[in-house]
Amino acid sequence: MSGQNKLVVGNWKMHGRRQMAGALVRDIAEGIPSGVDAALCVPFPYLEMVSGLVNGTALAVGAQDVSDCDDGAFTGEVSVGMLAEFGCRYVIVGHSERRARHQESSERVAAKAAQALRGGLVPIVCVGEQLEEREQGRTLDVISAQLAPVLALGSEALQALVVAYEPVWAIGTGLSASVAQAAEVHGAMRAALREVAGSSADGIRLLYGGSVKPETAADLFDGENIDGGLIGGASLKADDFLAICQAA
Ligand code: PGA
Repeated sequence: MSGQNKLVVGNWKMHGRRQMAGALVRDIAEGIPSGVDAALCVPFPYLEMVSGLVNGTALAVGAQDVSDCDDGAFTGEVSVGMLAEFGCRYVIVGHSERRARHQESSERVAAKAAQALRGGLVPIVCVGEQLEEREQGRTLDVISAQLAPVLALGSEALQALVVAYEPVWAIGTGLSASVAQAAEVHGAMRAALREVAGSSADGIRLLYGGSVKPETAADLFDGENIDGGLIGGASLKADDFLAICQAA
């Protein structure tokens, strides 16, 4: 919406080894087309290397999670101050794999988003329904409940974050949502954001994620209220990721 660049973000999840990561980042950074904003969210141990490699290129770096707390006695967690130190611009919060495996509630996800914003990072807040929730006709209710604590952060916060709609049944399955399915949820999310942020909500970028491939990207990105993509598997191949950037 609003004429700004689409945003395409790669989510490497827990993939890669140092050498592969270096080569992949170099190949991607070299090929980012103009007119699209692109970022890679990489595993924590690779942040330093990847930030060095993308320095001076059009590619930005992000992390895949952040603590909702300030530095302190939180074993295994990583603070937003640390992420900022390693050149992160973005951080994914509330990915369904973390909601499921780490019992992250929507309140905790919103707290992480708020903490990311306090540290100057752009949170990419993920929401999405399970297959059975869709089959029961509950998709929009689930999304609305997941968004509620994020909406409570207020208009200013909302204008500084990104929301990613990732239907859980579409993640890593090869079965993307149709453009109509994605656009329905994106439209509902836009309406909910407008209730808090008014017309400024039109500038909040809403990404679609879940089995986005080079072949499906252009149609999805043409969908109403779809401002870019969150790309898992296809971000592990430079050609695929760049083709998706091109489609944006
Ligand atoms: P996928 O993952 O593109 O491999 O489906 C998307 C995501 O989980 O962010």
